[in-house]
Amino acid sequence: MAIRTRFAPSPTGFLHVGGARTALFCWLYARRHGGQFILRIEDTDRQRSSAESVAGILDGLRWLGLDWDEGPHFQSERGSRYEEAVETLLASGRAYRCYCSKARLESLRADQLARREKPRYDGHCRDGARPGPEPPAIRFRTPQDGETVIDDLVRGRVVIRDDELDDLVIVRGDGSPTYNFSVVVDDLDMAVTHVIRGDDHVNNTPRQIHILRALGGELPAYAHVPMILGRDGQRLSKRHGAVSVTSYRDDGYLPEAMLNHLARLGWSHGDQEIFSRAELVELFDIEAVNRAAASFDTEKLDWLNRHYIKGSGPERLGEELGRQLAAAGLPIGNGPAPTAVAEALRERAATLREMAEASVYFYREFEDFDAGAARKHLRPVVLAPLEKLRAALDHLPEWSAPGIAAAVEDTAAQAGVGLGKLGQPLRVAVTGRGVSPPFDVTLALVGRERTLDRIDRALDFIRARAA
Ligand code: GLU
Repeated sequence: MAIRTRFAPSPTGFLHVGGARTALFCWLYARRHGGQFILRIEDTDRQRSSAESVAGILDGLRWLGLDWDEGPHFQSERGSRYEEAVETLLASGRAYRCYCSKARLESLRADQLARREKPRYDGHCRDGARPGPEPPAIRFRTPQDGETVIDDLVRGRVVIRDDELDDLVIVRGDGSPTYNFSVVVDDLDMAVTHVIRGDDHVNNTPRQIHILRALGGELPAYAHVPMILGRDGQRLSKRHGAVSVTSYRDDGYLPEAMLNHLARLGWSHGDQEIFSRAELVELFDIEAVNRAAASFDTEKLDWLNRHYIKGSGPERLGEELGRQLAAAGLPIGNGPAPTAVAEALRERAATLREMAEASVYFYREFEDFDAGAARKHLRPVVLAPLEKLRAALDHLPEWSAPGIAAAVEDTAAQAGVGLGKLGQPLRVAVTGRGVSPPFDVTLALVGRERTLDRIDRALDFIRARAA
């Protein structure tokens, strides 16, 4: 039997880290077994759903490369199918009309709470009810005398007594289907074989199983994956930084790093940390997913991102860096090709945004020298050697890193100072700061004219300081 998994987000916000991890596990499981991955948008709540959220979710999935084989199906377009399924259940007596007023349900609930009982519907309309003034809701007649066993692929065996469940509403008075009902009809129609989802849904599962059986469906396998915590052990939320997956893209993370980190949230394979997409597809197993909550660790993500930045081809990195530079409003045409800059910085940055921030001086004049670096390195003693170096650089026949390195070495030797004693002031002069890639590479990228102008500026700075 072909394996079919589905990712079924409600488009009421962006694709957050938890949702992306669920999608990844569904996708991996399908890919691992040569099955199909279905995308379904659960937008029956018209008030809370939005087209922007749908677009954001698709964007996030595409960024991560989680391609779907079917869909997106939209629940909002499947109304007639839900009506048909309700008719089936009403006809077979597995569902009934409930005319209980809101007031009655509220007072029932208040009484139960006062008696410290779990609030539940008391079955008032179960065996025939007199129509009331309001359009009825439709409830599912939940069996009361057995138990439901779920052999969850992650949590193991879970047994729920049927009398713990009440008769849930499957269609509201206004005709809209409820989550538990539409999910079941969809999973059935879409021939889903494996329901992989967050464990916040585990309490819904016995209800869904009853409805599915009443509709004559075969049970899928279930896997409820644990929730994701922040490093502080609290449920992951905005407090922990970015929670939308695409905001990580904006922050300069590569999708490979994100995918790798998401896969490790609850799943492991020995102590291996780095997994390519192909390896994940080859090794992923839902049964190896841990029951315990997983934690999202930004430091680990940074570490992975460094790894993937180092291993990325120059074209790709250049493209990513170019995007970051553009987003930061830097005039790219005004400096070296981002590919070359990314080559120079690839060993140094945890994110592409960091790389862009470290690249500003290639594209725009810096405002002031970093105060500490200037105090330490732009001192009167370097005035003469720096003037000499300026002249040597001005006369270099060719503007290249080896030529620049040779000029700096010669000038330092002639002035009788160590290389660092000249190289570091040069760096501060040209970049405004104390840290950059090797100065020869840096200057080559900055270009001759800009380099000379900036050395002039530094010389003025030193002279003013000496005066
Ligand atoms: N739409 C549900 C949610 O976003 C998921 C339903 C499911 O996977 O069964 O939480």
